[in-house]
Formats: sequence, C-alpha cells, structure tokens
Amino acid sequence: MRNKENYKQYQQKWRQEHPDYFKKYFTNYHRPNKQVKVYDREYYLKHKDEKRESVKRWRKNNPDKFRLLLRIRRHQIRANGKINAKEWLEKCALLGNRCQICERSADETKLTIDHIIPISKGGDNDIGNLQPLCFSCNSRKRDKLPEVMIPL
Ligand SMILES: [Zn+2]
Repeated sequence: MRNKENYKQYQQKWRQEHPDYFKKYFTNYHRPNKQVKVYDREYYLKHKDEKRESVKRWRKNNPDKFRLLLRIRRHQIRANGKINAKEWLEKCALLGNRCQICERSADETKLTIDHIIPISKGGDNDIGNLQPLCFSCNSRKRDKLPEVMIPL
C-alpha cells in the first residue's frame, strides 16, 4: 500500500519534471486518424531504405526466427485464426521438441507445423490442433487424419 503511494508520487513528480514528454504524447494520441496515416507514410518514405536494411540485417542475424515467422505466416494464410508463436514454441517444448510420429528430435531433423485435423477436413489454427512433425512425416501424412497415419 505504501509502495503504491510512493509510486504515485514518483509518477506525479516525473510528470511535472517532463511536461514536454506528456504534451507530445497526448497530441499524438488525440491526432485524427487521417493525419497519423499521412505522418506514417512520410516517415515510411523517408526511412524506407533504412528500414529495409534493418529488416535484412535482422533476418541475417536471426535465420531460425525468420524461418519460423515465414512458416507461421504461410499457415495463417491457409487457415482462419492466428498461430501464436510463443504458444507454438511452448507446445513443441512440452512435446520434447520431437516429431510426434518418428520421434526424431529437432537436432536430427527439421520440425514443421502439422495440423492434427487438417485444414481441408475442418481443422483450425488452435494450438490444440497443432503438433510438431518432421518434414518427411508431415509430407507422408498429407491430409490423412491421425488414426489413418501408419508410423514409420
Ligand atoms: Zn517424423
């Protein structure tokens, strides 16, 4: 309780000492949408190359993350609903970072996102419908339901 009061006081003090910061923040916040768009577009055009370079650099430094993002984006286009990258990584860890059919680990093979019930059979991107499969098991499975799949 005391800490909360202290924090409030600290916030007020900070706000008094930095009036410009809040003025800027609030004018930006209350700006009509149209103006924000124009502002963003100008900013974008001005920093287009810079931005592209930094994306390129990030991609080069984080090839695994970039590949994961690409994979997730591809699945999002195919199915309704978004795949949560954090949830997906947590689920993989929970399942031992292994292919759920041949049990090879992520170190031995490339794991792909598999829909337990395929999109074409009415499955969705819910984390409960996703599992890690290696590339070869995933391509063998195609659109078969899990019961139909014969393990290697
Ligand atoms: Zn496999």
